[in-house]
Amino acid sequence: MEVLEYGFMQRALLASLMVGAVAPAVGVFLVQRRLSLLGDGLGHVALTGVAVGVLTSTAPVGAALVAAVLGAVLIELVRARGRTSGDVALAVLFYGGIAGGVVLLSLAPRGQATNIEAYLFGAITTTSPGDVAAFAVITVVVLGLVTLLGQRLYAVSDDEEYARAVGLPVLALNLVLAGLVAATVVLSMRVVGLLLVSALMIVPSAVAQLLARSFRQALVLACSLGLVVSVSGTTASYYTGTPSGGTIVLLAIALFLVVSAAVAVREATGHRRHRRRAAIHAAHPHDHGTGCGHREVPHGDHVDYDHDGHLHAAHPTGSGVHYDEHGGHDGTARDTAPPSRGRSRA
Ligand SMILES: [Zn+2]
Ligand SMILES: [Zn+2]
Ligand SMILES: [Zn+2]
Ligand SMILES: [Zn+2]
Repeated sequence: MEVLEYGFMQRALLASLMVGAVAPAVGVFLVQRRLSLLGDGLGHVALTGVAVGVLTSTAPVGAALVAAVLGAVLIELVRARGRTSGDVALAVLFYGGIAGGVVLLSLAPRGQATNIEAYLFGAITTTSPGDVAAFAVITVVVLGLVTLLGQRLYAVSDDEEYARAVGLPVLALNLVLAGLVAATVVLSMRVVGLLLVSALMIVPSAVAQLLARSFRQALVLACSLGLVVSVSGTTASYYTGTPSGGTIVLLAIALFLVVSAAVAVREATGHRRHRRRAAIHAAHPHDHGTGCGHREVPHGDHVDYDHDGHLHAAHPTGSGVHYDEHGGHDGTARDTAPPSRGRSRA
């Protein structure tokens, strides 16, 4: 493939592979914690780090990492105090981060790599071999921590009170998660940019949550979707000449819209079928029960009743009990209840 002939494109694709897998792996926890915009805020803070790196001629990636991690720790400590002023403190930190970055970058001597747009929106061609090495280390550390601590991070993200009650170190786990977000923000700098990284963390996770039935499934699915949109977006941006970050994020959003629509249609038809079936037996002659004359067929956690060749399962609703069809004449169990949309636990 032509796209692979250039060194800068090889590095860009490597970086997009890593970002695509890592960003949603961290984003899943943020979505669960209803902190979707934390990545966005840390992206702002990282810009100050980039500027310090450019001014002092150290690697911007390393300086951005330091700034983002410091910002993340600060945010968690403010949040842990639970004051209402925490919200304002976050805003001050975020806008201070971007304002500091803009001002400091403008002070950099001419001829320096001070293209601010490249940091805000990504510029794949700027990925250096040193960046790729740093990104590889970040990727291994983040994915390793998510694998090791995933269940615990999920517990804390899902219900902090409960996690505290069962003795999990809530503050420590929140700090780890904030650190992971900071590392991911920096990892995404070259490919999607500091302003768009949050989208790559959140949107694939949101798609996965529409489809997955467990946390583990959501995690794996989110990473896979992230990989696909990240690599295909980077490749597409090479051929169309569009910025990689915007292209990747638009792809992810398109995926989200398509899946949302498909899920809505599936639920609507599921409910309609369910209502139709339930209506057939609305005027049920009796409530099924032991000795009602119909054959009992155990089915999972409940008992179905063989009613004229099909299986009925009692389904309590607000207005009483009706019967769902759970199997055909061959007696094979077949659940026809509408797909549930509720959050499933790990
Ligand atoms: Zn019966
Ligand atoms: Zn029936
Ligand atoms: Zn029902
Ligand atoms: Zn059943």
